[in-house]
Amino acid sequence: MSNLEPEQPAPAMILGEVASSGLARGRALLCDCARPSVVPRRQMSEVEATKEIERFDAAVSAAEGKLLEVQASVRRTLGNGEAGMFEAQILLMRDATLRDAVRDLCLKERINVEAALDEAIKHLVAVFSRLADPYFRERGADLRDVGKRLLDHLAQNQSPALPTLPDGCVLVTSELLASVVAQLEGHGVRGLIVEKSGLTAHATILARALNIPMLVQVAEATTRIRAGDLLIVDALAGRIFTNPKPEILRKYNQLEADLQIHQSALKGLIDLPAVTRDGVEIKLCANIGQTADAVAAANVKADGAGLYRTEFIFLVQDHFPSEEEQYQFYHATAEHLQPGETVIRLLDIGSDKPLPYFPLSREANPSLGRRGTRLLLAYPTVLHTQLRAILRLSASHPVAILLPMIGGMDELRAAKAALENVKAELAAADQPFNPHILLGAMIETPSAAILIGQLAGEVDFFSVGTNDLVQYLLAADRISGELASPYEPLHPAVLQVLATLATVAKAKGKPICLCGEIGSDPAYTALLLGLGFRSFSVSPGRLLEIKHAIRSTGLSEAEELARKVLQFNSTRDIKAYLRDDWSRRSPISSPTIPASAPATTAPL
Ligand code: PEP
Ligand code: MG
Repeated sequence: MSNLEPEQPAPAMILGEVASSGLARGRALLCDCARPSVVPRRQMSEVEATKEIERFDAAVSAAEGKLLEVQASVRRTLGNGEAGMFEAQILLMRDATLRDAVRDLCLKERINVEAALDEAIKHLVAVFSRLADPYFRERGADLRDVGKRLLDHLAQNQSPALPTLPDGCVLVTSELLASVVAQLEGHGVRGLIVEKSGLTAHATILARALNIPMLVQVAEATTRIRAGDLLIVDALAGRIFTNPKPEILRKYNQLEADLQIHQSALKGLIDLPAVTRDGVEIKLCANIGQTADAVAAANVKADGAGLYRTEFIFLVQDHFPSEEEQYQFYHATAEHLQPGETVIRLLDIGSDKPLPYFPLSREANPSLGRRGTRLLLAYPTVLHTQLRAILRLSASHPVAILLPMIGGMDELRAAKAALENVKAELAAADQPFNPHILLGAMIETPSAAILIGQLAGEVDFFSVGTNDLVQYLLAADRISGELASPYEPLHPAVLQVLATLATVAKAKGKPICLCGEIGSDPAYTALLLGLGFRSFSVSPGRLLEIKHAIRSTGLSEAEELARKVLQFNSTRDIKAYLRDDWSRRSPISSPTIPASAPATTAPL
């Protein structure tokens, strides 16, 4: 090869964790979908710097106008209390201190307004943070938000960082937000490779719902993969091949063909029941977020929606949906799924699902703070509006209500009282609803798990949210996705709790469904059946795979497996045992590739 020829991209294999399974092939598109944008800094003449002040004033009026619009819409739908949250930001935006600081920096240092604003905000935040009064320290957070809004307006970029997506690309990014994945539908993105993130982060759950193969925890992906590299994303074995050699391509052509055969075999299961080899019927529902998921669930004939994460439709709006808008969303969804039941979970915002138009005060540990039912009880108008929309729909469609993040009896009773109030209100106005609408509680905190026997007296059903339950039982972050994360659904403590939950619910005669992500992994199906679960709600794209796993498992063999696994006291042993079990039962597996083979530098 002569020195003048362009360097051939070297083939390589990179490892990651399978977050959404499947196979993908495409050219790499590198993007920074979550990192805050770097603020540009430019030197300029005095005349130019003076003009920058005009840009600042224009950005302030545009941003203030937008903020007032959002505030008015929140006031309309949620009332004055919630709308008041915007007041502080509007005042800060108009404040002469900020304008003077930006003006001085632009003129004295002759820099562009973005750089001046960034510096002024950092300075003022530092000043606020040194004040003793907690009220003023809090304003520091508002000030940061104000700065972000103004920078967005200056860049005329108000949507999350999503680049133009060429059809058939594989997105490679350091981090991925749920709000970004929510916009990917229909863009032809074939695969996702993320340096961080976890298996139960909401961005991952959405990717799974969209059936986009995804690998997470791919160390240094954005530096090891170059834009335009040809990639094979093997989201079965958890590896990526960059610029693969012909023999690897041949092996993956074969695997793609095998996968297609397997997928058409799975389609043959659509009309067959989810029943174990020894004849035990299992309820198999779908987890849904957006209306498209309900269509996907109906296409595979799910027994209904076991978990409708309503916050996902709120995430892609630019305002808080009114009662009527919510009614229309829920109606469209339930319509697709009837006669199956749609279990509508009340808004579970907060933590990793903040709504851009509903800014909450900052918390040091958001996942331990206000979210789920706690947050709804703190914002009664939000709760009231959603309950009205669901109850109205219950007059015509089989819907049930599910309460997220129940911590104990007091929260449960407070939520029930709110439900009874809305029922009384509708009855007084002669508006039809189902007075016997079923009410369920999510079991996703250790306190709810401990109290399940008592909670059983107050609800009609349970749904086990293992994504959070694992996080809170093990004190391990479900989102951070560090390589050696202690977040382990197969931890012996988790499995013991799951076995107890299934047993107690059965003894109390209350249906219990498992809707966390472990239910969507066929490698766990036999174990979960063996632990006592007879009802699952899974990602629509995985439903047939789970049905296949159920139909190939005998209950007595599943119970034997669970008995064995419950005897282990080490996560590592449990994982090894189940890996071995799954390698014998898995209907499809990736080709064996010697670890050294792809690391060669031979050109393609
Ligand atoms: C869970 O926590 O398992 C769950 C289903 O809820 P989410 O993933 O939306 O928090
Ligand atoms: Mg949860």
